[in-house]
Amino acid sequence: MTDHHIHIGQFNELYYDALEVFEAIEEAGAKYGIDEARFSSTSSCRDDVELLKIEEETAYALSYTGKLKVRPYLWFVPSYADKNISVFSATKTFDYCGIKLHPAAQKWDLENPRHKKCMEEIFDWSAQNKKPVLVHSGTIPDDLPTRFSPFAIERPNSVLILAHSNPVKECAELVNTHKNIFCDTACIEEKNLEKLRSLVTDKEKILFGSDFPVTHYFSTHYFSKECSLKEEYLLDCKIMP
Ligand SMILES: [Zn+2]
Repeated sequence: MTDHHIHIGQFNELYYDALEVFEAIEEAGAKYGIDEARFSSTSSCRDDVELLKIEEETAYALSYTGKLKVRPYLWFVPSYADKNISVFSATKTFDYCGIKLHPAAQKWDLENPRHKKCMEEIFDWSAQNKKPVLVHSGTIPDDLPTRFSPFAIERPNSVLILAHSNPVKECAELVNTHKNIFCDTACIEEKNLEKLRSLVTDKEKILFGSDFPVTHYFSTHYFSKECSLKEEYLLDCKIMP
């Protein structure tokens, strides 16, 4: 079983060391049959993010020697597009499992020709490599699922995963209508997960994703709980069908 939505790196004031994150997943996730983690670095949210620094972090993460299979997503940000970093060359450094986008955290301006071209390239890369673009979805205009779905719909060989399946109804509709659109369960509320499961026809298209260890950050910082990484991951896995 794969956890499609894992993070490493800087998240607000905390730094989540990749090897510690993976060890917790391997130990706690064994009970749930988790044998693969697909991760991206939240250090990509820093204003001064540099691709080279993220690559160093990714190389360190890939030095994990445990049994858990770990695969990186390249978190692409608009500032890379502004620096004319090409999607096709940036994705050559590692065997990336996909590209991650977070339109709520980073302003993608699709009216800006450079950003638009970059987005086209991201979905072209996805189509050519049959690898997913994992896009944060939500209810604010910037990250509505319908904002990025046209790029996937235009390219039937590309793959789009709507992270968080939010809003549920719109995501379920897209997943049900388009073969190449999937959704994940990252940080989803229980009642929304139930709704999602009742609306999506092909249950295989609801991918398990935990958003760990961002979940750990929320538990310890917003809900003042005391829990270890392992304890948090056990809780995160509980939503599995
Ligand atoms: Zn996430």
